[in-house]
Amino acid sequence: MFTLITLPYAKDALEPVISAKTLEFHHGKHLQAYVDNLNKLIQGAEFEGKSLVEIVKSSTGGIFNNAGQILNHEMYFTQFVPKPSLPAPTGNLMSQIANQWGTFDAFKSEFESKGVSLFGSGWVWLAAKENGELVILQCPGADNPVCHFERSQLSFRPSAASGEISLRPLLTFDVWEHAYYLDYQNRRAAHLSALWQIVNWKVIENRYSN
Ligand code: MN
Repeated sequence: MFTLITLPYAKDALEPVISAKTLEFHHGKHLQAYVDNLNKLIQGAEFEGKSLVEIVKSSTGGIFNNAGQILNHEMYFTQFVPKPSLPAPTGNLMSQIANQWGTFDAFKSEFESKGVSLFGSGWVWLAAKENGELVILQCPGADNPVCHFERSQLSFRPSAASGEISLRPLLTFDVWEHAYYLDYQNRRAAHLSALWQIVNWKVIENRYSN
């Protein structure tokens, strides 16, 4: 049985970037529905008892969509903090960003524009390869970097048996309209550029170094 994660902050703590009303629906209704759906779908079936990542890597259809959305939202909601102690990452993650993009602003700009240009619903992700190299991925629907082979970055749902390494998810912005429509209406770009104010870089650094 999967359960709804508890938010690590109060519902109004991310205002004005994300309103309490948006969080109420996004966490309390949308994510709750994915959790309820997945529990129903896997009851008594082959995926019962498996971890979320295992299910996301090897399922299809409704099971994949609901499990993927739970994984995506759990990583999304736990990467925010009301008042970040760091305006940017430090250490290895910052060095790697500087190596690949030159400046932190150049990285943010590419990340935002990939979020803005993703057609329809989905997620923009920062992900890492085993060697530390970073990639920005446009993931439609419920897709997650764990479904992408490191080698080609294409989505093939690597299975343990294939011996292929999948990308490691680090940071994500949700570009489904339910993530921003109450607060920003159609202004997806404005929403994405505001999200940097609440990213908890300590969490992202931990995801990168673990
Ligand atoms: Mn969402």
